[in-house]
Amino acid sequence: HLAQLVNTATPLDEWPADWFAVQDNIRHAGLLLNDTLSAGDGLRAAVQAGADQLLAEIRQASLRGRGGAGFPTAMKWQFCRDATAPEHYVVCNADEGEPGTFKDRVLLHSYAQQVFEGMALCAYVIKAQHGFLYLRGEYRYLVPSLEATLDAMRTANLLGENILNQPGFNFDISIVLGAGAYICGEESALLESLEQKRGVPRVRPPFPVTHGYLGQPTVVDNVETLVAAVHIAVHGGEWFRAHGTAQSAGSKVFSVSGDCTAPGIYEYPFGISVQDLLEACGGQDAQAVQIGGPSGTLIGRAEFGRKLAFEDLATGGSIMIYSAQRDLLAVVRNFTHFFAHESCGFCTPCRVGTPLLRKYLDKIASGHGTVYDREEMARLGKLVKRRSHCGLGQTAANPLLDLLAKFPQVYAERLLHQDYEPFFNLDAALT
Ligand code: NAD
Ligand code: SF4
Repeated sequence: HLAQLVNTATPLDEWPADWFAVQDNIRHAGLLLNDTLSAGDGLRAAVQAGADQLLAEIRQASLRGRGGAGFPTAMKWQFCRDATAPEHYVVCNADEGEPGTFKDRVLLHSYAQQVFEGMALCAYVIKAQHGFLYLRGEYRYLVPSLEATLDAMRTANLLGENILNQPGFNFDISIVLGAGAYICGEESALLESLEQKRGVPRVRPPFPVTHGYLGQPTVVDNVETLVAAVHIAVHGGEWFRAHGTAQSAGSKVFSVSGDCTAPGIYEYPFGISVQDLLEACGGQDAQAVQIGGPSGTLIGRAEFGRKLAFEDLATGGSIMIYSAQRDLLAVVRNFTHFFAHESCGFCTPCRVGTPLLRKYLDKIASGHGTVYDREEMARLGKLVKRRSHCGLGQTAANPLLDLLAKFPQVYAERLLHQDYEPFFNLDAALT
């Protein structure tokens, strides 16, 4: 059917709706996904306690951003709240574009009420009247169900004017669709896109908490962060803090894919080892695992004892598993093509550098690369990392450099003229 529709160029919007039926595949539910809440529980608890107390609970919980970077959520909300301006905004970053990441899609499909309620909680703290769900273009099939959830919340007075009969607590949410650009997941490019401009990352600082949407103080939070805030509002910061590790409180929702018997969504407390997660999903024979998607870290078997936590292996949740049969060079080449394609073109190191990296990998993968090509690729990769304007360029070379550091034989096996001696010391040249 798919081939038929593609061949006849049927517009995507005309594809039968049931083809988009989402398989959530939740394999292991933990702290958040197992916790049954009713609509409005978080908001009711919040208005009873007051905005100051809600912020105190989020701080007590040590909640950190779930998009990958782990910035303290209470600090972000506090900074935004303290910024004096005519308007404040809440933006939910649902532009989940990292290859191998699909946990936000599941949260938006099965826990949408909690996502929106999390936004309303943030609005209550920072005194925002409007919020945006910036939704990845490829997830547009979720829009009808998301709009229905918003309507139900308006009817239940969980959105709109004087929410839960609190005078002056006015807040509503609009859904805005991205158009398929990976860079619009970078928060400042997202804000540009939201303002109907080309999605190019801004210079930070200033951060969105003071200069965000239309230059106004704005909290941009990941979908999962907002869901966690609802559970903290209901159960308190101590409850959340009791799980996880010293620097990574609570649980993490992982998107597990690749060479394992049970791919899907897994929620575990922070601190679980890669080995334990691999055993849970039937991927224990892996030769390597990509943590945090292509912009993250590639690890081999020697590192499977490491912990998934901000203090060890930080991740937005993507876990991609590669068996011994998987050609790691082909994987890395694919990622490098992806970054070159998604580069927004704003800054030279990334605009020019990522296509050059792609060329080196194509050459090496086809068996025509030399030691010199490999050395030049590594040198250029480090330069692109150091000199690019935003996270895309700063991480685009991670896969090929990690592969070089941890699986050097994968390159060596493909090279011509293996006896070539580089005429300069690469590391010395880069320092
Ligand atoms: P960052 O550390 O610069 O910022 C993280 C958050 O904290 C942002 O919201 C930022 O505004 C805020 N912040 C940081 N310093 C601040 C300060 N001094 N004052 C106020 N606010 C401050 O990280 P980033 O560049 O926004 O994001 C990088 C992360 O995104 C990486 O960890 C990467 O893995 C992840 N990522 C996720 C996806 C996905 O699909 N989920 C895709 C690509 C990248
Ligand atoms: Fe654009 Fe790449 Fe530069 Fe980021 S690093 S601003 S994506 S060209």
